[in-house]
Amino acid sequence: MNDILELVRARDPEQKEFHQAVYEVVESIKPVLEQHPEYRQAKILERMVEPERVIMFRVPWMDDEGQVHVNRGYRVEMNSAIGPYKGGLRFHPSVNLSILKFLAFEQVFKNALTTLPMGGGKGGSDFDPKGKTDTEVMRFCQSFMMELYRHIGPNTDVPAGDIGVGAREIGYLFGMYKRLRNEFTGVLTGKGLNWGGSLIRPEATGYGSVYFAAEMLATRGETLEGKVCLISGAGNVAQYTCEKLIEMGAKPVTLSDSNGYIYDEEGIDREKLDFVMELKNVRRGRIREYAERYPQAVYTPVDPSLDYNPLWNHKADCAFPSATQNEINGKDAQHLVNNGVICVSEGANMPSTPEAIDIFLDNNVLYGLGKAANAGGVAVSGLEMTQNSLRLSWSREEVDRRLREIMKNIHRTALEAAERYGHPGNYVVGANCAAFVKVADAMLDQGLV
Ligand code: GLU
Repeated sequence: MNDILELVRARDPEQKEFHQAVYEVVESIKPVLEQHPEYRQAKILERMVEPERVIMFRVPWMDDEGQVHVNRGYRVEMNSAIGPYKGGLRFHPSVNLSILKFLAFEQVFKNALTTLPMGGGKGGSDFDPKGKTDTEVMRFCQSFMMELYRHIGPNTDVPAGDIGVGAREIGYLFGMYKRLRNEFTGVLTGKGLNWGGSLIRPEATGYGSVYFAAEMLATRGETLEGKVCLISGAGNVAQYTCEKLIEMGAKPVTLSDSNGYIYDEEGIDREKLDFVMELKNVRRGRIREYAERYPQAVYTPVDPSLDYNPLWNHKADCAFPSATQNEINGKDAQHLVNNGVICVSEGANMPSTPEAIDIFLDNNVLYGLGKAANAGGVAVSGLEMTQNSLRLSWSREEVDRRLREIMKNIHRTALEAAERYGHPGNYVVGANCAAFVKVADAMLDQGLV
């Protein structure tokens, strides 16, 4: 198993985030590989760490001033053993192959846990939508799709949103796909409601992560009622995490963006959340404005000289990292533990470093890794695909009921697998083992392809 890590490191020495994601899985699935020589024999893990296909392309576009820009576009088609490639597109300046391979690799396992037939993929661009006008974003999306369209399809690869890609971008991408193919089909998820989208899709990742936290707490006879909760991020995942927490009687006290965070000791209530949603989704403003509107809240700008994030250093019961990868390091994790946090549910992908995860596990924190805790988003994407195939749409209640059921299922599956493989209560081992076995068995069944 160490050989596999060596192999991955030697092949792409600079892909640190990808190595990190592989390391977590390899460490967790040791008990499975010990019990199943057939996986080792068929080199399942060696095959899983190599994407089935990586597409990389030039994305030229023109800004409103007539200046030409060139970005890089990607789609990593990681694994199609249990269904068409499925996973989001990320538009952010930090996007590179390492980030997308880590995301695509995690997506394979996450999608397997949802119980829906979806393989794993991820894509995006180093394009920064921040500060761009709608027309610039549209021209970028159109150029991006002018290449991507030949690689995707409703039975081949079904992209969706991620950081920097929301309803607006999915709309522009879909419009261009439809024009190029002359086909109206469910090739993307996260679509608008009146053209094939699903109710609850925008809410799904955040709601799912709260449902997962509720399941974890229930194993200790606890509920979210009255719990003080730290949330990072202010995008789609953070907003709907906040909404569901309010609904369940918890008290969310923080939100953040790349410039800083707000701490509102009185709690973020429905009215304040509406302000945030308008600020972020309509005006596309900064979270700093929250403290201008609600002066009892404290705004703290990011201080690059600190080796920890002060957001994680407040008295709280639960934490919902919902911003981005590696946002909780060892020091942050120790702060969380010292401040009394008993439950961490990851809305973001890989927000905790390996050191942070060890600290959570050593301190008996209920730790819900992203692959399990944030699978609600892609699960409802799967339900959107189902509705598109059926050519009908389910009610809000119906989709939410299915989402809740799926999150319960993932929780149970991870818990049972953790027990079976000798690490009771360890969701990292449980989720990784259960997902690995599902994908590995499908790969064995399908032969050496
Ligand atoms: N980007 C989301 C994730 O990380 C959703 C992917 C999808 O809906 O396909 O799972």
